[in-house]
Amino acid sequence: MNHRISRRGVIGLGVGAAAISAAGRTQMRSDGAGFAVVGLGKLAQGQIIPGFRNCRNARLTALVSGHADKANRIAAEQKLPPGSVYNYDNFDRIASDPRIDVVYIVLPNFMHAEYTVRALKAGKHVLCEKPMASTIADAEAMVAAAKAANRKLMIAYRCHYEPLNLEAMRRVRSGSLGKPRLVITKMVRQSDLSDPSDAWRLDMRESGGGALVDMGIYGINGARYLLNEEPLEVRATARTDRSDPRFKTVEDLVAWEFRFPSGAIAQGSSSFDAADEMAFEVVGQHKRLVADPGCFYSGNHLCLWQGGNRAEIPIHEIDQFAREMDWMANVVRGGAPMVSPGEEGLQDMRLMHAILESVGRGGATIDTNWGYRRAVDPAAAVA
Ligand code: NAD
Repeated sequence: MNHRISRRGVIGLGVGAAAISAAGRTQMRSDGAGFAVVGLGKLAQGQIIPGFRNCRNARLTALVSGHADKANRIAAEQKLPPGSVYNYDNFDRIASDPRIDVVYIVLPNFMHAEYTVRALKAGKHVLCEKPMASTIADAEAMVAAAKAANRKLMIAYRCHYEPLNLEAMRRVRSGSLGKPRLVITKMVRQSDLSDPSDAWRLDMRESGGGALVDMGIYGINGARYLLNEEPLEVRATARTDRSDPRFKTVEDLVAWEFRFPSGAIAQGSSSFDAADEMAFEVVGQHKRLVADPGCFYSGNHLCLWQGGNRAEIPIHEIDQFAREMDWMANVVRGGAPMVSPGEEGLQDMRLMHAILESVGRGGATIDTNWGYRRAVDPAAAVA
C-alpha cells in the first residue's frame, strides 16, 4: 500500500533560511488580531468566516483564493475594504499588509505545508487545519519554519478548546471514573466522490490518506488528550474494497489499538463508508463517560454511566471555530499558552504513519514510544 503519510515526498520548502522582511513584522494592535483565511471551500464558508461574528479578539481582515469572483463576493458580504483579497500568485505580498497578523490555512491537506511556510516567511503567525500536512516530512518542515521565523504555528484542533471535550478530560483527570482502562473512539462518515470537497480527500496524493487522516485523527488525538499520556505501541488492521471507485488510492476502514504507559488501551476506528458518527467513550474502573456524538460542530452529548444508570452532563454549547480563533488571537497577543502547536500535529502524523505501517505489515505491533510529551494540558490551560 502506498501510504502518503510517509517521510518521503518532501516538497522542497527550503525553510532553513526563512527571510522575514522588516515590513513583514506586524505590530499587534489593541483591537485584536487580524486573520487572512486561505482557501474558501466548505469549512471556510460554512464555519470559519461566519465564526468571526462570535469572536472577541479575532477579526477577518483578508481572503486568499484562486477564484476572484468568489473571493470578491465574500469580501463584499463581510464588508472588507478594497485590497483585502489576495490570490495564490500574489500571496507573498501579505508580508507588507499590517492588517494581517494570522494566516488561517483551510486548503486541501497537500497544500498546507507550502502556504504555512510562505505565510511564516512573510512574518505572519499560522493557524493550520488538521491534518497539518500530507506527509511527515512536510509537517516537520512546517515546525522548523515556525521556529526559524520565530512565529506561532497552531494546529486547528477545535476539540482542545471545546467545553464537552474539556469536561471529559477533567473528569478523567479527577479520578472520578476510577482508573481509566479503555478509550473507544469511532470517527466515521460516508464519502461522496462527486463532491469536490471529498474528491481530493479520496486522492492519496492530495489528502495523504483516507478516513484515517480526515476522521480518525480526532480519535487518535482524543485518546491522547483524554488519557493525558502518549501511546507506547500500536497495532492496526484495515478493510478496503478496491472495487469501490472511492477507494482506488486511499484506505477505507481502519481499526487500531494503542497501548498507553498507564496500562490503558485505546481502540479507534475510521471509515469513509459508514453512517456518520464522531463518538468516544472512556471506561474507568467504576464509571464510564460516553460522548455520542462528541466531536460534531454542535448537538454533542456527554453522559456518565454507572451500571445501568445514565446521567446527562449539561454542556454549554459554543461556536467552536470562534473559540479556537480567539485562542490563537490570544496566543499571538501574548496572553494565552499555545495548546495545540505544530508539534502536536506532527505527533498525530507520526502515529497515523505507525497505524498504516502496522496495517502494511499485517497487524504487526509498532513502537510509538519516541519520547513526545505534550507541553500544555488543555484541561489545565483552557478555561
Ligand atoms: P474544500 O474542498 O471544501 O475546500 C478547499 C478549498 O481549497 C476550496 O475552496 C478549493 O477551491 C481550494 N483549492 C485551492 N487549490 C485547490 C486544489 N489544487 N485542489 C482542490 N482545492 C483547491 O475542503 P474543506 O472541507 O473546506 O477542508 C479544508 C481543510 O479543512 C482540510 O484540511 C480539512 O481536513 C479541514 N477541515 C477541518 C474541519 C474541522 O472540523 N477542523 C472540518 C472540515 C475540514
